[in-house]
Amino acid sequence: MNNKISLTAQNRLIIFGLLLSTVLIVAIAVFAIFNIQKKLNEGYQNFGQVISKTLAIESVEITKNLPADKIQETLKAHSDSILKSHNDIVFIEFRDKDGKLIYSGKNAHALTGRTNIRVTSPLTALGQSNPIGSVTVGLSGNIISQISSTTRASLLFVFTVAWIVFAFVILINTYLITRELRILQNGVKKISSGEFGYKIKAKDVSSEIEELFKAFNDMSARLHIYEEQNIDRIMLERNKFESVLMSIANGVVVCDDNDNVVLVNNHAQTLLEVTEDQLLNTPIQQYIDTSGNECFKEKIEQFKDTPLEIIEKKPIEFTINVDKRVIKSIISPMFTRNKDYVGYIIVLIDMTKEAEMEQMRAGFISNVSHELRTPVTVLRSYIDTLYNYGNEFDYETQKEFIGTINQEIIRLNRMVNDILDFSRLEANTELEKEPNNIEQLIEECARQVDVLTKEHNLHITIDKKSIPPEFMFNYDSIERALTNYLSNAIKYSPENGEIKITLDYSPEKNEVEVAVTDQGCGISAEHQKKIFDRFYRVENNTHTIKGTGLGLNLVKTTIEKHHGGRVFVHSEVGKGSTFGFILPTAPIEISVK
Ligand code: ADP
Repeated sequence: MNNKISLTAQNRLIIFGLLLSTVLIVAIAVFAIFNIQKKLNEGYQNFGQVISKTLAIESVEITKNLPADKIQETLKAHSDSILKSHNDIVFIEFRDKDGKLIYSGKNAHALTGRTNIRVTSPLTALGQSNPIGSVTVGLSGNIISQISSTTRASLLFVFTVAWIVFAFVILINTYLITRELRILQNGVKKISSGEFGYKIKAKDVSSEIEELFKAFNDMSARLHIYEEQNIDRIMLERNKFESVLMSIANGVVVCDDNDNVVLVNNHAQTLLEVTEDQLLNTPIQQYIDTSGNECFKEKIEQFKDTPLEIIEKKPIEFTINVDKRVIKSIISPMFTRNKDYVGYIIVLIDMTKEAEMEQMRAGFISNVSHELRTPVTVLRSYIDTLYNYGNEFDYETQKEFIGTINQEIIRLNRMVNDILDFSRLEANTELEKEPNNIEQLIEECARQVDVLTKEHNLHITIDKKSIPPEFMFNYDSIERALTNYLSNAIKYSPENGEIKITLDYSPEKNEVEVAVTDQGCGISAEHQKKIFDRFYRVENNTHTIKGTGLGLNLVKTTIEKHHGGRVFVHSEVGKGSTFGFILPTAPIEISVK
């Protein structure tokens, strides 16, 4: 704030007016006092003249017939009586015509001994033209100085009061005018500091000023409305931008020209496992991944070493690993509309699923080829042996050989069917559905796996809690789904285990629940979450028990995508598992896309 006092033209005018009026009042006062004093002096002179003249006449009159020795005495008596009654007369002197002092009387009651005015009058006898002497009267001038000092004081008082009143009126008037200006100035200050909507309160102001204040308040109110609209618009734009950024499925990190992070969306925070505060305003090169590496550093350097024209066409792509996540990162430059370089943007894409998928796919290919090769090798060797040495074996051995060949063909067939089913169910063609009996389907499935259960000394039971009427479903695909559950239960059950198929129907919910419970190895919670994923196999089982990792995914696709139902699993490691599905019995709208 500027504290210097600067005089406005108006202030200068007021001060000038005050000074001028002061000078004028002082000049008028001095002139008046001077004139009054002059007049008083003249009057006093006249008064002195009158006294001396009167004294001269009286003295000639009272001494004209007196002897010479009595004259002085008479003059003394007369002078004393005059001196006594006039304490302004300091002395009276009588001189003869030669100037010799006849009598001189001083006033004992005079206010001061100082003589200010001396007036001399000739002593002339009546009818004579030549004077016989002179009389001098000395006046102190006390009265006149008292009168003039009183007059001066009174005049000074009057003029001072007049000046004060005058100055006061001017100042009050000025204050009243500037008060309104100050109110207005205050309002303008508030507006300029952004306090739109500020209102000036008009009290005891002239109508013109009131109009001015009204116009000001009107303008302020309009500015307020405009500001609110503007803020709303800016907020809307910002929200739009933010929500777009936040709803982007990928992570976005924006860095300025100095590598400092200026923006980071929620997804990027999740992927990089940092909070916004940890990343904002820090160089992105300093980011450390979970293995303790500055995973962006080298690539940012590479980005900076590459000319912008090249990097613009071909952004830098690389992969980082944070925790168990695989994140594809793309760095591309950022320009303004005018093509000025302002920084760069890093897009982070979570590729964990894809990477897992890729791994699973590779595993699947090696699994399938291994799984296909094994039965084919077994078949070849058995068929070879039978073909070349069949005659040498007895009937029972030949039967055993053919039984094994049959088992391997069934296995091969199942696997090929799984793969074929997989591509068929994945395709967006709808399965044909007709009214079918689920109870019958369950019994048939149990019969089909009868040989297998017996082989493994397993005991299979069916628990029909409540039986539904016929409802619409695709018989073959549901049969394959249940067979999948059953063959898994057989595969992962220990010898002499129990397998139970449960059927339950809820007419209120219009749902049928089918579940297969075994007493097998069970599945940990971590694996349960992914068990229905395509190609997913539990690692420790993969090498010991044969499979493709497709079975459960086929069940899920059949039940959820093609029948609008849901699959579930409850399992405890070491105790067993229950795999099941729920099918809607009432017709529902299904889109297989
Ligand atoms: P696979 O061909 O490997 O059996 P699935 O999709 O049928 O493929 O099963 C996926 C994985 O789920 C299997 O590798 C197995 O580890 C586990 N699994 C499936 N059913 C059971 C079960 N009843 N008991 C224990 N583990 C099971």
